[in-house]
Amino acid sequence: MAKQGNIRISSENMMPIIKKWLYSDKDIFLREIVANAVDAITKFKKLTDLGEAAADDRELCVKIAIDKDAGTLTVEDNGIGMTEEEVEKYITQIAFSGAAYFLEKYEKAGGEGIIGHFGLGFYSAYMVSENIEIFTKSYREGAAGVHWESDGESTYTIEECDKADRGTRIVMHIAKDEKEFLEEGTVRSLVEKYCAFMPYPIYLNFTGKEDKALNETQPLYLKAPKDCTEEEYKDFYRKTFHDYHDPLFWIHLNMDYPFRLKGILYFPKVKSRVELERGKVKLYCNQVFIADNIKEVIPEYLLLLNGVIDCPDIPLNVSRSFLQNDRQVQKISKHITKKVSDKLTGLYKTDREKFEACWNDISVFIKLGCIKDEDFYGRVKDCILYKDLNGKYCTLAEFVGGAEKQGQEEAKGDEVRADKPADGAGDKPQEAATVYYVSDEVGQAQYIHMFRDAGLNAIVCDTLVDPHFLSYLEFKETGKYRFLRIDADIDAALKAGEGDAEGDKTLTEAFKAALDNTQIAVRAEKFKSAALPAVINVSEMSRRFGEMNAFYGLAGADADRDMTLVVNTANPVIQAFAGLGDEKKKFVANQVYYLAMLSYKKLSPDEMKAFSANSVKLLEDFLR
Ligand code: ADP
Repeated sequence: MAKQGNIRISSENMMPIIKKWLYSDKDIFLREIVANAVDAITKFKKLTDLGEAAADDRELCVKIAIDKDAGTLTVEDNGIGMTEEEVEKYITQIAFSGAAYFLEKYEKAGGEGIIGHFGLGFYSAYMVSENIEIFTKSYREGAAGVHWESDGESTYTIEECDKADRGTRIVMHIAKDEKEFLEEGTVRSLVEKYCAFMPYPIYLNFTGKEDKALNETQPLYLKAPKDCTEEEYKDFYRKTFHDYHDPLFWIHLNMDYPFRLKGILYFPKVKSRVELERGKVKLYCNQVFIADNIKEVIPEYLLLLNGVIDCPDIPLNVSRSFLQNDRQVQKISKHITKKVSDKLTGLYKTDREKFEACWNDISVFIKLGCIKDEDFYGRVKDCILYKDLNGKYCTLAEFVGGAEKQGQEEAKGDEVRADKPADGAGDKPQEAATVYYVSDEVGQAQYIHMFRDAGLNAIVCDTLVDPHFLSYLEFKETGKYRFLRIDADIDAALKAGEGDAEGDKTLTEAFKAALDNTQIAVRAEKFKSAALPAVINVSEMSRRFGEMNAFYGLAGADADRDMTLVVNTANPVIQAFAGLGDEKKKFVANQVYYLAMLSYKKLSPDEMKAFSANSVKLLEDFLR
């Protein structure tokens, strides 16, 4: 005769609340039920190892079965099982009070933020079931089978039953509006997500010997790094992240003290330069998946990597804000960061060639890390690379040193713009080294040519984070470097000594008067090369200011207010300018301006139209 009982804690109102809060995450129920099954097996295995339970020749495993007709999802294990008293205690009391406890915490956390909703346990199966039955038989000798059943609201029944084998079978009668959990595809993907690395085989709709377990019971990250081969690392990466590109390199984390941490972090190939491909770091606790991308444990910039981290010491049954302030978690996070920077600096020192080859893929990640984390910056700052105009990779120190040498050779020391950082000798205040950079190799091609012709070099900084990163560097290394975009200070590259002040003034005024664009300033300089009639110069400060305003959507995003047209008095067109009649002056001044603007950025639609008309006219004159 079945015994009936009331579930002691007041659970009537629990389910609607839990369901509402966990709605998006209710699929964790399968993780909870399968994890319990695996736990029960682990316990049984321990007992047999100790000689306290008799092993048999059945494979220790979990079997999941779907019965669409009956509307049930069943999870069965051959673990320790439970006696009637144990079912009363662990399920009726502990599981239900555990859920109540969870709910209380959850409420305190404001209804969100408990990582992976860990700790809900057996009760979570009621999120998708209208009724649950347990058939279980303890490993203890002479134990009887037990059948327990409850709708999860307030009452349950428990009775003896026939059950041939040791272990527990949980039969979930799936609720009407949760039928998706009776689809093989759904169940399979849930197991792959949450149970991929659980330590005992999990079978779905087990039929016989041919079946393959859905999970990897010995994931690579558990192995000692010295026992793992390169192929195994790559294989694990492909399987876990479904990325057919090989990773660049990886870090195998493996420590037991002062906390337990195992895992592998992979540096992926970046597929797109503009859009940051977001990586994924999966957090596990004893081979049970908890959640992706927990930034309290793994610094946010590391989330650009792909990886698995198994850390049994993270308190999971707490809110995220608690995690953030937890000392242990902070230590873990710091340790991971240190390992990453060690790997990077190690690679830089031991295999610079490979480091350079990977640089384009890892630079955004590293720069972001530097901006976000001072410690990280401190560790990796000496191995940050920059590509120069010759496609060579160098550190800032190397670049500045090289630029100085080059400058001395070519300008005999009189135009050295890239000063070496002070070596500490003497009291002379250290002058910031000017470093020119290119933010768009195509758009700034004209300036690059001019720089090259003048024997000058620049670094390429064309990723999304570079504008922030350069400001950060100037701030962190105060007084050491000054970054100027290649179109921000053309004097350095082009100016060939002082011109004729009086003549320049007359030219400038005449030129300005002839231009349609009345906003732009005009300046005359004698360039080293006669080739170009004029270039556009926008001061670094006002351009950065404009970019910042544009970024924040503020007024003043138009940095062109501070634009200067610098005309080259060495160029024959400019030299001829003074002798032209008014009409030709207007034509030449505007055409020179259009050409300079085209190398700087785009022309406005009206300007483009005028430029085309002028150019056609020039062709006609040419043919005449
Ligand atoms: P938790 O797993 O966090 O302890 P649960 O609510 O999931 O909480 O489960 C409560 C208890 O019920 C477990 O601690 C375990 O003793 C028992 N239990 C649950 N599932 C099984 C199972 N498949 N086999 C044996 N015991 C189980």
